[in-house]
Amino acid sequence: MNLTGKQIIGFQTKAAGHRNFQGIQATTGEVLPQVFVEATDEEANEALAKATAAFKVYRNLSDAQRANFLNTIAEEILAIGNVLIQTACAESGLPESRIIGERGRTIGQIQAFANFISNPSWKREIVDEAMPERQPLPKPRLVQKQIPLGPTVVFGASNFPLAFSVAGGDTLSALAAGCPVVFKAHPAHPNTCDLVGQAIQKAAQKSGMPDGTFSLLHAQGHEIGGYLVKHAITKAVAFTGSYRGGKALFDLAVRREVPIPVYAEMGSINPVYLFSERIASQGEGLADAFSQSICLGVGQFCTNPGLIVLLEKDVAFLTSLASKLDAMPLGTFLTAGIKDAFSHGWNTLNHHPATTRLTASEIPAPSLFSTTVREAIAYPEVLEEVFGPCTVAVVCKDLHEMIAFTEQMPGQLTATIQAEPTDLAGLDELIDEVSQKVGRILLNGFPTGVEVSPAMVHGGPFPATSDARSTSVGTEAIYRFTRPVCWQNF
Ligand code: NAP
Repeated sequence: MNLTGKQIIGFQTKAAGHRNFQGIQATTGEVLPQVFVEATDEEANEALAKATAAFKVYRNLSDAQRANFLNTIAEEILAIGNVLIQTACAESGLPESRIIGERGRTIGQIQAFANFISNPSWKREIVDEAMPERQPLPKPRLVQKQIPLGPTVVFGASNFPLAFSVAGGDTLSALAAGCPVVFKAHPAHPNTCDLVGQAIQKAAQKSGMPDGTFSLLHAQGHEIGGYLVKHAITKAVAFTGSYRGGKALFDLAVRREVPIPVYAEMGSINPVYLFSERIASQGEGLADAFSQSICLGVGQFCTNPGLIVLLEKDVAFLTSLASKLDAMPLGTFLTAGIKDAFSHGWNTLNHHPATTRLTASEIPAPSLFSTTVREAIAYPEVLEEVFGPCTVAVVCKDLHEMIAFTEQMPGQLTATIQAEPTDLAGLDELIDEVSQKVGRILLNGFPTGVEVSPAMVHGGPFPATSDARSTSVGTEAIYRFTRPVCWQNF
């Protein structure tokens, strides 16, 4: 498969624009050879107009036809072969084993949606039988079913160039629901986006989907993304990325004349609550596992444990964790922008009067800072996500203070309780409070690693997401792109 550097607009490729950019090799900073042409407003209009026309046909295809399309996407992605792995590695700096694993996860996710819609129960049909004899009025027969929303605009994140990108969970759940997708390619991995976009285009042609079921637009700046979100044709938006990006797009959508749902999955600092018996029973192993979770993928996971909450009597654990982090290498960041943002966030914490650095390095490195509940509440900026291997510990005087801190903690994707049964005995009130703040609550594990399965919730209250009633991972993600319709007396 050759790179095009162009927009994919249904079954065509186009590049009418005059602004160009190129991908960057993450490890060396070298510019990659393929030139990409940024999409124009006219190309965005065309992609959305085609999506509208396609929607009339696509929504009326059988579930089996759509499932066949999804399975063909999986085949076409696998058919790209090693070029896809090498391209994603070059653009992200992530190791080959991680990218091969991520491709497996992407394929598994696509097949899961294909299987899910192969069972008609996915439409959640509810039938209320008629009661013609009912007095004083007869009751009509009512049938409720889910139908697709319409053309959906999708934004992916840089830290998962396959699983949260062109053929990621957002695109696939929208396509599975019956919604055509216009994908805004991520400028951190345009070559990877180009290859996967072509695979979807090919799959659409091979499986007889209408022209316009899928389009992909390249751009380095924010304009085209904003244009797509504001466009009257767009019926839903799915975003995975930073708080800043997600909130900006959400705010744009709020000002639209016709409101639409925006599912923005944003950052999170994923608190880990640590308790005495657990620390005692796990010994060094807990600090080891913790430091590895903090540094996994250079800390560039939305589920990275960026916050520890523990009691004053357990602070010795922090010294042991800090010494483990001191021995960990920093690694290569996905992009120069993320590296700069990490340095900026680290410097803010390092110079902040409310925090104390516990790790040794005086320059940005895998790090642990500590603060108190009073200071964390007074200076909320110390709890902002620093995307990378950096964690802040909030030391609580007692359980009462820990609960008070949790009550005012912003929404999170996950929270973890590290506790033995003896610790858990007194934690009901805390756990109840924690459940109010998160989409997923774990016992004795680490939040990095998100299972793709029906019960998964990868979501959570604002600012983790813009809509806590949904998940972006697992088959339930499909219901972000459907709405119920009731058929009366049909
Ligand atoms: P990002 O910089 O927000 O980029 C995501 C996408 O949104 C890109 O295509 C970007 O295009 C676009 N974008 C950003 N700001 C925009 C704006 N104001 N207007 C229009 N488009 C805009 O995020 P990232 O650096 O790729 O990803 C890292 C972040 O994602 C971390 O905070 C991480 O926690 C989060 N994340 C969350 C999840 C989750 O499921 N909750 C999963 C993975 C990652 P441009 O670059 O062209 O602006």
